[in-house]
Amino acid sequence: MGFTMQAEKEISIIVPFYNESESMSLFFETIIPIVELTKLTFEIVCINDGSKDDTLEQLKILKTTYPQIKIIDFSRNFGKDAALTAGLDFAEGKCVIPIDSDLQDPPELILDMIKKWKEGFDVVLARRADRSEDTIVKRITAGLFYKVYNIVSDFKLPENVGDFRLMDRKVVDIIKEFPERKRFMKGIFAFAGFKTSTVEYKRPERNRGTTKWSYWKLWNYAIDGITSFSTFPLKISTYLGLFVTVLTFTRGLWILFKTIFLGIDVPGYASLSIAMLFLGGIQLMSLGIIGEYIGRIYVESKRRPIYIIKEII
Ligand code: UDP
Ligand code: MG
Repeated sequence: MGFTMQAEKEISIIVPFYNESESMSLFFETIIPIVELTKLTFEIVCINDGSKDDTLEQLKILKTTYPQIKIIDFSRNFGKDAALTAGLDFAEGKCVIPIDSDLQDPPELILDMIKKWKEGFDVVLARRADRSEDTIVKRITAGLFYKVYNIVSDFKLPENVGDFRLMDRKVVDIIKEFPERKRFMKGIFAFAGFKTSTVEYKRPERNRGTTKWSYWKLWNYAIDGITSFSTFPLKISTYLGLFVTVLTFTRGLWILFKTIFLGIDVPGYASLSIAMLFLGGIQLMSLGIIGEYIGRIYVESKRRPIYIIKEII
């Protein structure tokens, strides 16, 4: 540091872009003056996650105005977690801050984060103070997800915290070593630990464009998250099986007793079919749960790249 002129950066901002051409100029106009207030050197690592609009062209134009921009262009859409992974791989800063490109993560929070970082925290989380701007369904499902997650997982996932956070270089270096292909970044971040502080904010509406998350995508994301960090679902079938076995054993004894001492009793169609269907359901569900995990083993064992870069600009 000091008076050297070399390109050693203090801050790396990581921004994933997927079809964001409408909102991006506003994004840079907002964030750059704020980061400049820190008087620290910085770079903005932009990942174009296979956008189908002119996001890439716009980024190239903006780079002529803002030389701090570094563009990583993916060969197709790999998803936000893959984009963040690439961002971490290419960031050079002493601290790294992933942020959404739609201004839903308020850039002014970066100043508070940097302050905490200078106080000695390795991780500074941005926590949403409330979710009042979300739909009721989203609020309930999100709440439920965190509840379930924190019951079944070995470590706590901080509630209402997204990817927007500051991480010190030493944390980033550790996260980069995580070998998994399926990258549930929230979980990976939380798994890493380190001395953590939190700043609160109110999440604003998306400034332009629409969210890329459907409920189906969110559901799959939740399943991914849970199966990435917990084997609890596998135990469900064990316990359900145990429960049903104990139950049917006692009932079996009773039926045996009745048949021997009171004679054969033919009716029983309802109870028979209920027992059959119920067990069939449990068996299929258990197979499905095991399948989820086998699917993950399959994906991990292929060891395909997490992302493919077309060009670095
Ligand atoms: N994003 C991405 N790849 C995707 C989907 C989203 O890089 O496949 C980026 C998107 O451009 C934005 C961020 O991830 O910068 C968050 O996306 P979005 O606003 O749709 O999610 P939400 O804010 O609703 O969680
Ligand atoms: Mg958003």
